[in-house]
Amino acid sequence: MDLGIKGKKALVCASSKGLGLGCARALAEAGVDLVMNARGKDALEVEAQKIREEFGVSVETVAADVTSEDGRAALLKAAGEVDILVNNAGGPPPGQWTDWEREDFIKALDANMLTPIALIKALVPGMMERGWGRVVNITSVSVKAPIAVLGLSNSARAGLTGYVAGTARQVAPKGVIMNNLLPGLHATNRTVSLDSAAAEASGRSFDEVRAEKSAAIPAGRYGTIEEFGATCAFMCSQFAGFMVGQNILLDGGATNTTM
Ligand code: NAP
Repeated sequence: MDLGIKGKKALVCASSKGLGLGCARALAEAGVDLVMNARGKDALEVEAQKIREEFGVSVETVAADVTSEDGRAALLKAAGEVDILVNNAGGPPPGQWTDWEREDFIKALDANMLTPIALIKALVPGMMERGWGRVVNITSVSVKAPIAVLGLSNSARAGLTGYVAGTARQVAPKGVIMNNLLPGLHATNRTVSLDSAAAEASGRSFDEVRAEKSAAIPAGRYGTIEEFGATCAFMCSQFAGFMVGQNILLDGGATNTTM
């Protein structure tokens, strides 16, 4: 399927691995030129080169922390005018509700709420002037159903979701389409580290934890970054023009809700 976005340019934050990488690869497959980002340079350069070779699009890389002001300034300088923004960053650490102090919340809000908002504010006005744009914010299933050990994520992502709900409807008249993409459990480094922590805390093996968690998902498995990326690319496509301010859940059916 031709997504109608060949020749557009996308900034995909936090994209050397995992879900961000899935989005970058799917956009490249649709013919989109990329600006990719991660803190570590090595994996970023390796994945960028693979994408150039496989899909023939141009890929710039910016090794920087997207949650820092300097990092964002470097990203925005390298990116220039972009048509598509995929907001992403690492998730906050797990813990118990009694653990977190003000500083922990400030860090989580900075990374998972205020960083995407800063990039939206920097890039969406240009998209509106040019009359076309797409923004996908990678959030989490935790905005629909809280995850007990991820209270920092539950809080920060709910804040971003509220902001996007209000903003998406204000920018849509100028052709800018903004939505959130909510991952449930996907097979990435993030879930390896969360499942390892759960295994250690409960005295079980990693495989036992994985098997139990997979069994609780109607699809019977974790999602893949390819599935996630394809959904993101569709949300950035010409065909997503009537999807405004939505929260698209990819969780294999794990969240037991009617809507
Ligand atoms: P991942 O496999 O750990 O990959 C994270 C990617 O982001 C890497 O490329 C990492 O590279 C980059 N990154 C992390 N922090 C960054 C920063 N501050 N600045 C720039 N790049 C950064 O994680 P993932 O599973 O793809 O998760 C992506 C997001 O989705 C996270 O916020 C996570 O909480 C959320 N999520 C994931 C799942 C899941 O099942 N995987 C479920 C719900 C929500 P560097 O380390 O080199 O910077």
